Amino acid sequence: MPTSARETIGRRRDSDSADERTLIDPLSDDERYGSEVSDGDYDHDILESEDERERLLTQEDGLGGLFNKKGGRIGNKDSNAPTKKRVKRGHNDESSALMYEMEEGAGISTPTLDRGSIESDERRLMAAGAHRQTGRKRTWRRVGIYGGVLGLFFALLFAAYRASKSEHPKDATAMLSNGTHLFASTTILISLDGFRADFLYRGLTPTLNKFVAEGISPKYMRPSFPSVTFPNHFTLATGLYPEAHGVVGNTFWDEDLQKEFYYTDPERSLQPYWWGGEPIWRTAERQHVRVAVHMWPGSEVHSDEFHPAYVDKYNGSEVLPRKVDRVMELLDRPGPIDVGALSDKPRPQLIAAYVPNVDSDGHKYGPNSTEIRQTINDADTMVGDILKGLEERNLTDIVNVVVVSDHGMATTDTSRLIQLEDLVDPTEIEHIDGWPHFGLRPKKLSDLERLHKQIVERARNMTGLEVYLRDKDMPERYHFSQNERIAPLWIIPKAGWAVIAKADGDVQEMLKNGDAYHPRGVHGYDHEHPLMRAIFIARGPAFPHTPNSRVEPFQNIEVYNIICDSIGITPLANNGTLRLPLKPVGLHSDEDNLPDETPADPVPVSVSSPSPSSSPSPSPSADAIEIHVDPPSSASPAPQPSNAASPVTASSAAPTGTHAPETWWQGLTHLAEGAQEWVDNFLKDHFTGLKNGKEGEENERPQEHR
Ligand SMILES: [Zn+2]
Repeated sequence: MPTSARETIGRRRDSDSADERTLIDPLSDDERYGSEVSDGDYDHDILESEDERERLLTQEDGLGGLFNKKGGRIGNKDSNAPTKKRVKRGHNDESSALMYEMEEGAGISTPTLDRGSIESDERRLMAAGAHRQTGRKRTWRRVGIYGGVLGLFFALLFAAYRASKSEHPKDATAMLSNGTHLFASTTILISLDGFRADFLYRGLTPTLNKFVAEGISPKYMRPSFPSVTFPNHFTLATGLYPEAHGVVGNTFWDEDLQKEFYYTDPERSLQPYWWGGEPIWRTAERQHVRVAVHMWPGSEVHSDEFHPAYVDKYNGSEVLPRKVDRVMELLDRPGPIDVGALSDKPRPQLIAAYVPNVDSDGHKYGPNSTEIRQTINDADTMVGDILKGLEERNLTDIVNVVVVSDHGMATTDTSRLIQLEDLVDPTEIEHIDGWPHFGLRPKKLSDLERLHKQIVERARNMTGLEVYLRDKDMPERYHFSQNERIAPLWIIPKAGWAVIAKADGDVQEMLKNGDAYHPRGVHGYDHEHPLMRAIFIARGPAFPHTPNSRVEPFQNIEVYNIICDSIGITPLANNGTLRLPLKPVGLHSDEDNLPDETPADPVPVSVSSPSPSSSPSPSPSADAIEIHVDPPSSASPAPQPSNAASPVTASSAAPTGTHAPETWWQGLTHLAEGAQEWVDNFLKDHFTGLKNGKEGEENERPQEHR
């Protein structure tokens, strides 16, 4: 802002006389005094000035130099426009004359001077020159004063703007310096999609293991049901169960809207009406804390002005080093109080980045494949590069880093397939929601009970599935019933099992031919199954615990609160209950700590063989009622890891989309929007008291889907 003030002054200094008049016009109080001089005196003074001007322009030295300078500039600039030039000069001299007269009084510019006398001319010229010089000095002094006042105004405006921008409810969180810049509470949240908790125990993740040793973490984090990407990423972002935020699956039907949500179709999935609750980026932006969201599911949905300052559209083919560069580039931006910060795009205090690779290859090759090892290692390297970038910037103890995942991954097998037609006639079903879990919406709702009984009866000898009615016996711990978007009848396969329609494959044929089932890895099962376990690892000033601290496992509904606390913003009410500081129960290295668990993979079974194995129950937690993994009759065989199949092309549950870089016009539009927003904010914050109303909105609770 001081810059633009300087520019304004500079422009006026260089401008022609019309502008000078504008600048001098504010002195009209004095001019009014001048205008009291008789018309005759006034005209004479102007004539006199013209004379003087012409004479002075011909002189080379002394006072003349002052004018020559200007005359030369004008001449050089506009030699083809004498009329204009003259007009300009006239104006200029008129101004000077007015200044001359009004400032020094009529007595000096006296018409009694002998204009025929050279001596007196010279004297008069000297006097006029002196007065003119004085006048000009005064003019420039005034310019200086006005410029100063203007500069001061803009400086104050800028300071006020900074104050208003950096202000948020918990600004007591002190700014931390890395030696060159001040940082408000800042957190980088990285989600490694499909990174199963025990991937940490494969000797492929030196960075993440070191990160555990330096930070605080549970042995694993439970996802929410259904353990698929979109519901869980929005649970991470909102602290709400999927039944509460409304994204109840990657695909589902909404009876009221008569529309289907389909996660990989932006046309359908990016409509604001699907996404209930408030994601953390909105919570933060509402509280004047800037957020950057890199490809996080749901972040491209904009329902109002409180969208993230930075949103990177999904690009499934982006290589990991580019993600590192992007995170670092965001971190290197000037902070809100740094000189050079853009009003709407200062350094964000929350950077949430989404990494699809491990999930993608987990589906493609399976969680035990050789191929996934490299992908796990690549993800670890990416996190390592971000931590290294922080270290290089002396930000290790200043910026919080939280690494999470959304769910695990289970190996599939042709021997663990259930033919849908063996359970229900698809022609009786209007919509099938979700995958690998099947939510059934009968064409006739009156058929619901009959179809349920039929499926339960036919599944009696099958070991790989559970059948539930949403409003009758859906396990409470699933928190998967309080939303009309949840289908009334569900077939939920056990971990590693899959239900397929004949259109997608004939199970008996596949078994006979020895066909492999794709995808090789699947998730979406019971969120408490060990194979669905996710990770949560945190480090930084918001986690001032003994390195290697261990907390009890918790569900991902807690992450929203934790991240809000880490950047000093007030979370909305949500399903989570944990707040910072976390309360460790010990260290991972404690002798009494149970050894790291690697859950058993489901084992290939022959038809009508026992169900897949289950490993020891997850640690108890407030909302974990029981582990519901095996049917009552099953005898779990000793778990044996299944072998990976050869790499094949398979469908991926990772979302797809295209990256549309910002065009120059969009950039310009954003800039204009930024300027408008800045003015609006300033007016709101300082003149209309609207800010209080804005803050009052924090008490709002979105009521939908609660
Ligand atoms: Zn997935």
